[in-house]
Amino acid sequence: MEIMDKPLTKNIRPDRAFATLADYESTSGYQGLRKAVTQLQPKEVQQWVKDSGLRGRGGGGFNTGLKWSLVPMENTSPPDTAQTRYIVVNADEMEPGTFKDRLLLERDPHQLIEGIIIAAYAIQANTAYIFLRGEYHLAAKRLTNALLEARTKGYVGQLILNSGFSLEIHLHTSAGRYICGEESALLNALEGKRATPRAKPPFPVVSGLWGKPTVVNNVETLCNVPHILQHGVEWYQSLGRGLDKGTKLFGASGRVKYPGLWELPMGTPIREIIEEHAGGMQDGYKLRGFLPGGASTDFLLPEHLDVLMDYDAVAKVGSRMGTGTIIVLDDKTCPVQMVLNLEEFFAQESCGWCTPCRDGLPWTVTLLKDIIAGRGRMEDLDTLTGLTRLLGPGNTFCALAPGAMEPLQSALKYFRGDFERYIVANNVVMGQA
Ligand code: SF4
Repeated sequence: MEIMDKPLTKNIRPDRAFATLADYESTSGYQGLRKAVTQLQPKEVQQWVKDSGLRGRGGGGFNTGLKWSLVPMENTSPPDTAQTRYIVVNADEMEPGTFKDRLLLERDPHQLIEGIIIAAYAIQANTAYIFLRGEYHLAAKRLTNALLEARTKGYVGQLILNSGFSLEIHLHTSAGRYICGEESALLNALEGKRATPRAKPPFPVVSGLWGKPTVVNNVETLCNVPHILQHGVEWYQSLGRGLDKGTKLFGASGRVKYPGLWELPMGTPIREIIEEHAGGMQDGYKLRGFLPGGASTDFLLPEHLDVLMDYDAVAKVGSRMGTGTIIVLDDKTCPVQMVLNLEEFFAQESCGWCTPCRDGLPWTVTLLKDIIAGRGRMEDLDTLTGLTRLLGPGNTFCALAPGAMEPLQSALKYFRGDFERYIVANNVVMGQA
């Protein structure tokens, strides 16, 4: 692959050093911003990003330019600047198995800053917040330094690049809860309130931070934006191999030979990620299944290896692309214990706002623990199946609980024998007693 085919990671060096402002500028950094603020109207920037086909990389997959276009701009030309609007960066990366934004934050912070400024220009927001996971200390340090560098050079602050556009960017570190990654809970946390999700509608693009129109975008999403502005819509579209456009950081963890992250075209087959880039399974281990996009996605099986990593292609076989970071299940790891581990995480991270999630997740954990400890009954599998419905989409206040049910419901479908073996073994012992 040529460097132009890996825009997101072109500045990420193997020696683990990070890109300074001088490094970033030497590879045409901030040229996308220059083009946006000196040659294009905000609505044109929105249209470029919309036409590029860029979809949210945090897991939602919503068209980024379309999201920006939903912000009320009063249809004036030049756009209304009297109304306060905000850009908020969701850098609260806490999904188990997901570590893609961390790489971008720590190793090339100016790429994100440039993306933020262009997004802010597109919706005419004069204030932006980076909501960063509290444990990402190195990212906080490097972002702070990069923001200072960008301000000194006139990329952040008043009248950016002598245009009429001004922007302040603030870094906010999270108090450290998974629910803060849900965009409306994130906004509550940023306002200093308890981090519980908000009722929708209204959506944040209309009424977000302090009741003002707010766009919340993921780190990786915004890192794509400077390259779209610099190299154009057609170039960006040409990067995808399937229906979706551009490139993405795909990852793999578990018993593969080389766990890691790789920037690859959207639509790369799952087989290529696991067998080629991750080097295949470690010696002595076989692939039994995998979660394609982080902990809150459904298991898939080896028969799904030729599915393309596209939002719709993965959905068609019953899972989600999520964050695109694959968690591999090998033949020596018990899927029941793996699911218990995940459900314990989700139960601990439930914000407690709605009853099905607050009570249903600990109940799920208790049932799984009982099964593994030899106290399970066959009826417990029906109860677990019932819980996957009770905590499913539409029954809870946010997507945490339905996401938590995805690995469980697919494990019950594909690995039911593993659940039953614990119960049968228990019954045999009881019978002998
Ligand atoms: Fe909170 Fe869970 Fe309800 Fe979401 S689903 S609002 S995390 S209790």
